[in-house]
Amino acid sequence: MSANAVDTAFIRRAVELADLNAVRVTLYMHTHDPEIAALPKAIELSDDQRELLISKATAWLEANAAADRPAEPDEAELRTLMNLATKEEMGDLEFTARRELPAFKDFPLMIEWEGDKPAIPEDFMIVVIGSGFSGLATGVQLNNLGLPYTILERRPEPGGTWSINRYPDIRVDTISITYEFAFEKDYRWSEYFGRGPEVRSYLEGVSRKFGPYDHTKFGCEVTKATFDAERDKWIVEYDSPDGPQTIEANYVINGVGTFANPKFPSFEGQESFEGEVLHPARWPDGVDFTGKRVAVIGNGSTGVQLLAPVAEEAEHVDVFQRTPQWISPRDKYGAPMEPETLWLLDNFPGYWNWWRYMAIAGLFGTHGFIVPDEEWVKQGGKWNPMNDQLRADLTAYIKAQVNGDEELIEKLVPDYAPFSRRPVVDNGWYKALTRDNVDLVTSPIARFTPKGIETADGEVHEVDVVITATGFEVMKYLWPADYLGKDGTSIHDFWSKDGPRAYISMMVPNFPNMFMLYGPNSQPLSGGTGLPVWYVIWAAYAARCITRALAEGKTRVEVKPEPYERYNEALDAEASKLLLLQEEGAPEENYYINEFGRMQVNAPWYGPEYHRMCTEVEWDDLELS
Ligand code: NAP
Repeated sequence: MSANAVDTAFIRRAVELADLNAVRVTLYMHTHDPEIAALPKAIELSDDQRELLISKATAWLEANAAADRPAEPDEAELRTLMNLATKEEMGDLEFTARRELPAFKDFPLMIEWEGDKPAIPEDFMIVVIGSGFSGLATGVQLNNLGLPYTILERRPEPGGTWSINRYPDIRVDTISITYEFAFEKDYRWSEYFGRGPEVRSYLEGVSRKFGPYDHTKFGCEVTKATFDAERDKWIVEYDSPDGPQTIEANYVINGVGTFANPKFPSFEGQESFEGEVLHPARWPDGVDFTGKRVAVIGNGSTGVQLLAPVAEEAEHVDVFQRTPQWISPRDKYGAPMEPETLWLLDNFPGYWNWWRYMAIAGLFGTHGFIVPDEEWVKQGGKWNPMNDQLRADLTAYIKAQVNGDEELIEKLVPDYAPFSRRPVVDNGWYKALTRDNVDLVTSPIARFTPKGIETADGEVHEVDVVITATGFEVMKYLWPADYLGKDGTSIHDFWSKDGPRAYISMMVPNFPNMFMLYGPNSQPLSGGTGLPVWYVIWAAYAARCITRALAEGKTRVEVKPEPYERYNEALDAEASKLLLLQEEGAPEENYYINEFGRMQVNAPWYGPEYHRMCTEVEWDDLELS
C-alpha cells in the first residue's frame, strides 16, 4: 500500500499499533524536535504525552511518508538516538556491541576486505556444513567477500532445524523482528511470531536472494572430515544422492547447529507398543488425531508449543511431565501483522530499524536474572530481587491460567528459579491442561506396554499415539559425523573428558582451519541480541581469520593450546558463579548442563563482553602459518 493510498485515520491507527519507543526515536531522528526528545519511555507516557507523540508522528507521516531507506546516522548521532531509545546512557563497551543492531548498513556486522583483495589460489575452497541460519549467514559473508565456497546440506532445502521440525503450531518464540537477518530489510512477516513454514520460506528466500542457494549441494550429509596436515586441507566425505563423495576444503565452517539431531527416548517395553510413536522432528505429513488417545512426553518449548492444537483434535491427551517448567506468555504471540503495521514498516523510514533495536533492547537486561545477590539471599530471598520478582509474576500467571486449580498448581510450579533453563513460551499450554480431554501425569514413566504407558504408580494410560517431545542430542556436538584433526585424533575423543569445548565457541586446537558456529558455550545467556545477530558475528570471525591468512599468504589458522585452556578455565570460573550451576538453578535438570556437570551450551559472559571477544580477534592467541 503506497503512502498516497491511505488516509489520516489509517496512519493514526498504524502509529497507535506501533512500538511507541521506536516511533519516538524514528520521529526524533527525522525532526530533532525537543518535545519528542523530552518524552519518557513508552511505558511511562502520560495520556497527554502519548497523544502528543501519536499526533506528531501522524502529522509527520501524512506529509513525509515514503518508502525510503534512511542513511546511517553518524556515530555521535547514532549514540544519541540509542540512548534516547532506552533512556539510558550507554558505556563504550555496550555502544560498541550494540551500534550495528539498528542495522542501517547493508550488511551489518559483516566484514569487507581490508585493502586490496589478494589473489585467491585456483583450487581454494571453503566448505560450509549446514544451510540453516548459521550456514546461510556464512554463505552470505563469503559471497560478499567473493570467496569460493560450497555448502553441504543434508536436507533437500535450506532451513536447518526449521526444515526438520514440522509439528503442529511450530513457530518462533522470540518476536520475528529479532529473529531475522539484518541484511534482509524488506521481508515482512505475516505474524509477529513467524510460523515454521514461513521461517522456512524466508530462509530459502534469503538463500536465493543473497547467493548461497547456488553454492549449496542439497541431500548431502557429511560423515567424516580428515585434516591433511601435509597440505593444510580438509578431506570432507559425505553421502549424496549419487552415493559417497569427497570434497577438499582449505577451511571448514561448521553450521550444523545445536538442535540438529532429535533425542529419541528408549523406555522399557517401547518396542512392544502397538500404537504409533512420533517425534516432533520427524513429523509425517497429514497426521490426524481425531478420535485418537494421545500421550505427549515432554514440556520443553516443543511439547508446550504442540499440545494445544493436538488437544483440540484428539479424543484424549495425557501429558507426561517429568520436571515443571517456567512457561511465560509473550505479547502479540499468534497475532497477525496488521496492514497498518506493514504499511508503517514500509513508509516510515527508520521505523524498521528502531523497532528492531527496541525489540532486541528488551534482552539487554537479562544478565540481571542470573547473577547472584548474596545479601538478598541472606535476608531470605531466593536468588536476587529481579529473579524473585519474575518467579512471583510467573507463579501468579500459572495460577490464573489454571483458574486456581490447587492440584494442578501443586504440580506445575517449579521449585527452581526462572532463567535456570531456556525460557519456554506459552502457546496455550496451561489452558489446554484445564480441558476435559487433557490430563497432566506426573508419576514417572515406568515402561511402555502394548496398549500404552505405565507409570510408577502402577496406572496404565492406554493411548493410540505417543508424541516424544523429548528434545535434541544437544550434548553430542558435531555428532554423528567425525572430524580427525592434524594428529589424527577424533574430535569426539578430544572432547571425551568433559564434553565439547572451544576457544570463544569456535575453534579447537589440533583442528586447524575449522570454525564452528553456534558451537560449544556459544549461546549468549544474557546481555541482549537475538541469535541471528550472533550467526553473523561468528561467520564474520571465521572470515576475519581466513581473509587475514589469505592476505599474508598463510594456509593454516589454529588456536594455540594455551589460550584455549586459559579461555576455558576462565569460562568455567565465570559459569560457576551464575544461577545455572547453583542449587537454586537445579543444574541436574537442565539441557544447558552436560553429564559432567559443566555448562556446555551457553556463553556465561556479559553479552557486550562476549561480543568484544567475538569481533576483536586476539591474534596472539592464534597461529597463522
Ligand atoms: P527440551 O527443552 O530438551 O525438552 C525435552 C522435554 O522432554 C523435557 O520436558 C524433558 O523433561 C522431557 N524428557 C526428555 N526425556 C525424557 C524421558 N526419558 N522421560 C520423560 N521426559 C523426558 O526439548 P525441546 O522442547 O525440543 O526444546 C529444545 C530447544 O529447542 C528449546 O529450548 C529451544 O531452544 C528450541 N525450540 C525453540 C522453539 C521456538 O519456538 N523457537 C520451539 C521448540 C524448540 P526434563 O525437563 O525433566 O528433562
